[in-house]
Amino acid sequence: MPLSSLHDLYVDELKDLYSAENQLLKALPRMAKAASHPDLQAAFEEHLEVTRGQMERLEKVFEELEEKPKGKKCVAMEGLIQEGKEMMEEDAEPAVMDAALICAAQKVEHYEIASYGCVRTFARLLGYTNAEQLLQETLDEEADADKRLSELAETAINIEAENEGEEEEEEDEEEGEEEAPSRSRNGVGSRR
Ligand code: FE
Ligand code: FE
Ligand code: ZN
Ligand code: FE
Repeated sequence: MPLSSLHDLYVDELKDLYSAENQLLKALPRMAKAASHPDLQAAFEEHLEVTRGQMERLEKVFEELEEKPKGKKCVAMEGLIQEGKEMMEEDAEPAVMDAALICAAQKVEHYEIASYGCVRTFARLLGYTNAEQLLQETLDEEADADKRLSELAETAINIEAENEGEEEEEEDEEEGEEEAPSRSRNGVGSRR
């Protein structure tokens, strides 16, 4: 479809988002299954329900436009999900896998936040007040999901993941191996 107006771009971006949400809908159950921490599992399972509602909102936006939501594939979401898939195939300690899953999920949320921010602003400019409100609701949900993931990482999962590394170092020491340099304690590692 030629993009000769902001309206055309608005429709195109909405189709991209519909495809993105649809792909995520299929990926979230796998992510929940790969997670070990019950709070992270719950976060993924709840975001699955939230995502269904977001797709319904997009369908309403398309109804108002008298357009169909189909016809585009979001290759960015495909790539983000593919990266996550490859990560899930790694042989990782459970807490390290949880940290990796949060990382993958936050990349997805940031992509969605950028995309919904754009279409929300386009809706405002084009005078689609109802759509603007629906898209803002979704944008707020994506921001909440991102925040929840940060909190989970910072209060529990990153710390557990780091401790798993330290347990292994201690085991190595017991086996009489040379002490590994403790990067994180020197502040050169992952700590902010
Ligand atoms: Fe979403
Ligand atoms: Fe996209
Ligand atoms: Zn990002
Ligand atoms: Fe999301």
